[in-house]
Amino acid sequence: MSDLLKAEIDGSGVGVITWDMAGHSMNVLSEDVLRAFEAEWRKLQEDDRVKGVVVTSAREEFIVGADINLLWRMRNWSAEDVFAQNQVLTRFFREIETAAKPTVAAVNGDALGGGFELALACRYRIMTDKDGVKLGLPEVMLGLLPGAGGTQRLARLLGPREALQYLTTGKNMRAEKALGFGVVHQIAAHDDLLAAAKAAILEGKVPAKAPWDEKGYAFPGDPAHSREWTQVFAGGGSMLRRETQGNYPAPQRIMACVYHGLQLSMDKALSFEGRQFTTLFMGPTSRNLIRTGWFGRNAANKLEKRPQGVPDTTFTKVGVIGAGVMGAGIASCTAAGGCDVVLLDVNEEAAQRGKQHVVDYFARQAAKGRMTKEKADEIAARVKPSTDYADLAGAQITIEAVFEDRGIKATVTAATEAATDAAHVFGTNTSTLPITGLAEAAERPEEFIGIHFFSPVEKMPLVEIIRGEKTSDHAAAVAMDYVKLIRKTPIVVNDSRGFYTSRVFGTYTREGFMMLTEGVSPAVIENVGKASGMPMGPLELIDMVGIDTGHKITHETIKEVGREAMAARGEPFEALGVLDWIVEEAERPGQKAGKGFYDYDADNKKTQIWPAVYERFPKKNDDVDVDELKRRFLHIQALETLRCMEEGVVTAPDDADVGSIFGWGFAPCHGGVISYVETIGVPAFLAQCEDLAEKYGKRFEPPQLLRDMAARGERFYPDEEPLQAAE
Ligand code: NAD
Repeated sequence: MSDLLKAEIDGSGVGVITWDMAGHSMNVLSEDVLRAFEAEWRKLQEDDRVKGVVVTSAREEFIVGADINLLWRMRNWSAEDVFAQNQVLTRFFREIETAAKPTVAAVNGDALGGGFELALACRYRIMTDKDGVKLGLPEVMLGLLPGAGGTQRLARLLGPREALQYLTTGKNMRAEKALGFGVVHQIAAHDDLLAAAKAAILEGKVPAKAPWDEKGYAFPGDPAHSREWTQVFAGGGSMLRRETQGNYPAPQRIMACVYHGLQLSMDKALSFEGRQFTTLFMGPTSRNLIRTGWFGRNAANKLEKRPQGVPDTTFTKVGVIGAGVMGAGIASCTAAGGCDVVLLDVNEEAAQRGKQHVVDYFARQAAKGRMTKEKADEIAARVKPSTDYADLAGAQITIEAVFEDRGIKATVTAATEAATDAAHVFGTNTSTLPITGLAEAAERPEEFIGIHFFSPVEKMPLVEIIRGEKTSDHAAAVAMDYVKLIRKTPIVVNDSRGFYTSRVFGTYTREGFMMLTEGVSPAVIENVGKASGMPMGPLELIDMVGIDTGHKITHETIKEVGREAMAARGEPFEALGVLDWIVEEAERPGQKAGKGFYDYDADNKKTQIWPAVYERFPKKNDDVDVDELKRRFLHIQALETLRCMEEGVVTAPDDADVGSIFGWGFAPCHGGVISYVETIGVPAFLAQCEDLAEKYGKRFEPPQLLRDMAARGERFYPDEEPLQAAE
């Protein structure tokens, strides 16, 4: 017995192992529980009274996958040790599958990752009829593959075509589908699940062998090397390549597991799968995805960096001023977080327009089946349109999203402060204006903070919180509590022009403009941008964000910072020439106007790169070095991030990484800007930047911080061994 699971034998001779992991929020495959499970399962197998074993859980879920903390501890192991550990689990699951006494999975809730793999290793699987319960193998999203037989058993049950759809995307399967595929043998009423599982054993429903251990077994679909087989693997392979741009090795290796595994005996296939798992595990992509996508993001969501000693905030009312694009979106998210919102604008009509956006947004969610109509109405009803600052009384926090104008923002700040109490926090959603300057308009600058949302607000996961010089810990804590309330991911940075995210993001598009001026073909620029792992090419991206916005911000920065100062930092003004041309001369502000670097059709979908871009920037060189172009795109973002760290704008590498992926979509395969540098290695990255600086100018010059780190042999994530194996 342990406090992780319990085993018992009922009067009819069925052994039941019930997972219920004390001290864990969910049942996961940790080292301890596996040890306890194996011991109990063996005891039951050896007990003469026992006819068979049922595995189930006392929790809401069945088992939701590997304990990622355990995986993370293994990251500094050798490949041999990782493979050996993998095979211990794989062999145990195989033992369950081939044991004389049957094991039945009574899947009472979500079975994901290793939990689903355990169920698949049971010779009979019964699933609850409870709504919404999922089966799935999401390992691919962490750059891994299901390495405890998942690729093999699913492929043998579904055939390669169907199985790959699940394995390469991580998408979930519901009960009816699972029954259709034979992934589960039976669906039972939730309350009868255990009884049905026992009955399956007592009534002899469980087959003596897994289908693939029977003589003459053939997987569903056409056999290996048939026409269908070739289509699946040749066609699917090239499709994957197009989608991943070769940046994500896991789907390719999953495909290899299915391709080779289906042609091997189960035992050999499991060993092959283990080797593929190990290779992925030892490579940089899974490590980067786990570090930032899992640990970094979870730590941010749990507010691990929240200032200590400030009591948690209970939100009863949130003010939003400016009911435009951003304000209405902020109101939506706040209402969805369960809080009342006062949405204030200059007149009734504007405030009402913002409220209508909220109503329409949630109606669309309901129409898409994401929530009930009642729920949608309930959320929208929390938003009260207003023109009266007195309505803000009693709010814990107010966020202004009025025009990007210092004067207007100052008036709004003063009016809000007059209507609210001393503990109220004022957040500004300015995208460009430094917080310390805006806070000068405040009576209580210590309660003034930047809360920078991204557009479209409802969709974008990150919120960048910016502390001004006088911002207090109280304001930072309340802002973080607020971001948690609306279920977004916060990072906290210090003040700077463009803060962290906008400042770094701008370097990507700027590098694209520089390539245009050098005569690199626009199509090549776009394709290489995507191939580098960025979600879009730089020209498409600036079209979407608004070229006019980029143009305005750059000119304002020149006005406020000065040309000389910018030149001293290596600003390439040729890029500005591209912006001036497209905005001022060509009058093409971007996608919203239906014209930018791309042409757009009546539905505002891009059709082609505007032909005049090719004329204006004729191709000068056919012989481009694609790797170097990719490097320029990513290195320039990493360099600006390092400058932000040097200046104290960003204070920790994980903030930089989380902010880059969830803020502007920096190539997730690299785990964020700093993980990217770390993967290359500080000395090698430094040398590459020096090389680029020599060829392309001062903007690639490495900051002193990097030189110092290289000289001292330091790393950004020092508790991790540098990577050794290639993928
Ligand atoms: P918008 O023009 O869509 O909306 C601004 C709203 O503010 C309008 O409804 C306007 O009536 C209202 N307003 C103006 N003066 C006001 C006043 N004195 N009192 C109350 N309401 C007033 O603008 P937006 O795109 O929502 O941007 C708002 C802010 O958010 C700006 O500071 C902008 O820089 C920032 N921002 C925008 C984006 C973006 O992508 N649009 C992203 C991040 C931050």
